[in-house]
Amino acid sequence: MRNTVDILGVKVDKVTFAQALDIAEGFVRTDGVSTIFTPNSEIVMCAREDAEMMEVLNNADLCTADGIGIVYGSRILKDAVPERVAGFDLTCALLERLSKTGDGIFLFGAKPGVADTAKANLEKKYPGINIVGTRNGYFKPEDEPEIIDEINNSGAKLLLVCLGAPKQEKWITAHKPELSTNLCMGVGGTLDVLAGVAKRAPKWIIRLNLEWAYRILKNPSRFGRFMALPRFVVEIFKAKKG
Ligand code: UDP
Repeated sequence: MRNTVDILGVKVDKVTFAQALDIAEGFVRTDGVSTIFTPNSEIVMCAREDAEMMEVLNNADLCTADGIGIVYGSRILKDAVPERVAGFDLTCALLERLSKTGDGIFLFGAKPGVADTAKANLEKKYPGINIVGTRNGYFKPEDEPEIIDEINNSGAKLLLVCLGAPKQEKWITAHKPELSTNLCMGVGGTLDVLAGVAKRAPKWIIRLNLEWAYRILKNPSRFGRFMALPRFVVEIFKAKKG
């Protein structure tokens, strides 16, 4: 039975990082396709304007609070999630666990070459990891049957989909019936970071809950997207009153 908080219409699981990791590993070991998404305030605001995205998120098997906005939002609503569970951190911890068991992993998304570099870096970092396939995230709709065959034929149990939100969540949900992986995770820029193409904020900035500010400074073109944050805060206070 899931224990969730309603964040402006999106069900977010009240799980600690350790619980989310155990659930994710459990999904990898269970037949049938499970899905994990990691919404932040920007994704919640996107879902409020996109009914399909709202449904997609609410049909996931686990939605973790990736973003301090969701954590504070849940506190303001007096139904707090225990902590932030960032998609990148959850992915790395899961990859480390799977490196011990040898379960197959498929990396899908990012620009050509990025998933291959991420694979090489992961193989150095986690000896024993079994990455059974990679594929870049730039494709035409007519390429999709071939991509799905490639994923299924690889025998992967975990599929990481890094196409950015809301594309990755919608892609996973649309193709779930055709996929034979046990767990699909939509984890945005994770492959870019694993490949060294993008950098995560330094740990002390993350600890100060300022990763969002670091990302704006490093990539000012994201500023428009981050304007979702003040709108999110306003909506949270309205929901609290209502
Ligand atoms: N991307 C992709 N196909 C697309 C659009 C984007 O593979 O059609 C990739 C892009 O190269 C990047 C990732 O999706 O690696 C999105 O990263 P971003 O940091 O924007 O993720 P988000 O902030 O949405 O989690």
